Amino acid sequence: MLDSLARQLKTIEAEALPEAEIYRQERLHEGLRRMPARERRHRDPGGVLQCPICGTQARRFLPFGLAGRRNARCPVCGSVERHRFLWRYLTRATGWLHQRLRVLHTAPEACLEHRFRALPNWRYRSVDRFDPAADILADLRALPLATGSQDLILTSHTLEHIPDDRAAIRELGRVTRPGGVVLVMVPFDPRLQRTLEDPANDTPARRMAAYGHPYHYRIYGADLIDRLAEAGFDATVVESKRWLTPHQRRRYRINRNHLLTCRRR
Ligand SMILES: [Zn+2]
Repeated sequence: MLDSLARQLKTIEAEALPEAEIYRQERLHEGLRRMPARERRHRDPGGVLQCPICGTQARRFLPFGLAGRRNARCPVCGSVERHRFLWRYLTRATGWLHQRLRVLHTAPEACLEHRFRALPNWRYRSVDRFDPAADILADLRALPLATGSQDLILTSHTLEHIPDDRAAIRELGRVTRPGGVVLVMVPFDPRLQRTLEDPANDTPARRMAAYGHPYHYRIYGADLIDRLAEAGFDATVVESKRWLTPHQRRRYRINRNHLLTCRRR
């Protein structure tokens, strides 16, 4: 994803490519829309790595990201570390997959979307700003959904793409029922007291330099909790390092990752 973005940065900077096209190419590059044709070859019962989403066992996963992070991407379902952490959390820390829930999934990752759509008890809908294949084609700041209509919202690596993220968080607060939950994943560094963001980073190249991605508007710090509280959420941070044993992190290839469970008051 990021290496393709880095290669294209001059084109992006010249604004010769629309933002929607950038995201479409990211998805293709991640392989999350198309499963690799070679997938069967990677099934290796002796493999020490295991993808908890698709069950693949392998000696190695594929490299991924700007620096070619080793063993990052599952060769079968295309999951990277954060997808596997989210799936592991959903299946082991919650009973949600077995409950009757109205679920909204923003900018859905295909490796997870396939699994969610197969759940007979979920009323699942995806929402995306650009992808016509989504159930709902809409901006997160203006959802065509009734107030309090959602039990669970999954929003992973979406909020950092939105210039006015507070408006999006407010809208999530509006459509989530009291007691409902939004699971948030974003670029998050709890060592930062305040979110790293600056309106002066107003070009793709400046944002790439500041946040590592031409269409990221920030890296969140500990004050994300306050932003969520303003919209009526009590947020708790779940850290992969605390929640998984070292053996699990090695086996499932899950790096330092955070997710926030945000319960609507
Ligand atoms: Zn997999």
